[in-house]
Amino acid sequence: MRFGINTLDDLEVKGKTVLCRIDINQPVDRSTGKLKDTTRIEACIPTLRELSDKGAKLVLMAHQGSDIEYKNFYTTEPHAEVLSGFLGKKVKFIDDVCGPAAREAIKVLKGGEILLLDNVRFVSEEQTLFETKLCLSHEEQAKTLLVRKLAPLGDLYVCDAFAAAHRDQPSLCGFEQILPSAMGRLFEEEFCVISGIMEKPGRPCVFVLGGAKINDAFLMMSSCLGNSVADKVITGGLVGEVLLWACGKDIGEKARAFITKEGYAPLLETAKELLSKYRDRIAMPVDFAAVQGGKRTEYPLGSIPADALILDIGEKTAKQYQEIIRGARTVFVNGPMGVFEEEATELGTRLVWDALADTPAYTVIGGGDSITATKKYNKTKDINYICTGGGSLIRFLTGEELPVVKALRHGSTIKQQ
Ligand code: ADP
Ligand code: MG
Repeated sequence: MRFGINTLDDLEVKGKTVLCRIDINQPVDRSTGKLKDTTRIEACIPTLRELSDKGAKLVLMAHQGSDIEYKNFYTTEPHAEVLSGFLGKKVKFIDDVCGPAAREAIKVLKGGEILLLDNVRFVSEEQTLFETKLCLSHEEQAKTLLVRKLAPLGDLYVCDAFAAAHRDQPSLCGFEQILPSAMGRLFEEEFCVISGIMEKPGRPCVFVLGGAKINDAFLMMSSCLGNSVADKVITGGLVGEVLLWACGKDIGEKARAFITKEGYAPLLETAKELLSKYRDRIAMPVDFAAVQGGKRTEYPLGSIPADALILDIGEKTAKQYQEIIRGARTVFVNGPMGVFEEEATELGTRLVWDALADTPAYTVIGGGDSITATKKYNKTKDINYICTGGGSLIRFLTGEELPVVKALRHGSTIKQQ
């Protein structure tokens, strides 16, 4: 038991059916349907190997996101193949989540065998829209279709999905109401490492926040600047743009339209509040880059042409950020500085990642695209800890208890028969 949660050491799994939630959500190539990265799949292998070697009948539940969640474009079938490759052992797949076919496949499993169910998001209860609109309690989640159908077939529940620990959904928080539960090895490791750093971070502690999914970043800035876990926050991507807009700076018509279309305009109020309290501890871009005529073109803040869409921080900003990172003793990173996937708009991210690699600070990077950037620049070995979570890492840093942690604590009090 660690942090009031069972570990795999606390369960007797031989011959038992173990329902195991993992996070193997990976970027998918839209045209081919192929997985573009396999970091998260590889990260959960120790847990799966241990459970299988100990003789569990292992049932894996996982989600794969689409650009638009409800469109249900992707199955988890390719993930089963990648899992099999890493494990050196067949992982079965069934194209069903909790219907009769899935239940039958679970019933015939033998000790040591592994079955991956199809994308749990095919069940409406597992969609973010459902989560955010209905806000079900964990007791209510235990009564959803998924849990009602699968829990009776399981003896134990294991969650190894630290990357999804901030989500409040039945596959993550419902089973712990019914089955004796534990966290897997990856969950345990990520939980311990990050709690350890947060307890006494080396100072100054700097957060680098960028990217395009920015609700969590704003949530986290308020708490981490407020409780002084972060001494300074460096901002790029849409985070920096929203902050500058809130300051009354001209980021260009196209950027404002994009931010509005993405639904982030309400964050302007949060941004204003943050700036009124912590202006001197938030670093924002002083220049930007856009693509004009196929080429990178840089503009100082205040002179962005109306027809330019800014897609990266400028070189001057990146150099300022490098100095801050090199002078830090702890750095948490979530989100790239720009559209690093394209050559013309990768410079900001590359320069910041260079500094992350050579700073004496303890560096932690989280988030799918941030991990992809780390690989692209060959910095994996230079970063102290790479966390599979982006959103969950950010929520964890706010100091609030994550929904899955709460559920696992409850599931750890249920005694194994
Ligand atoms: P992570 O996966 O690391 O948590 P996000 O998913 O929040 O990061 O954001 C990553 C994406 O943000 C990348 O695909 C990148 O192209 C995009 N991005 C970064 N900066 C901008 C920008 N200024 N405008 C639009 N997209 C951006
Ligand atoms: Mg991402």
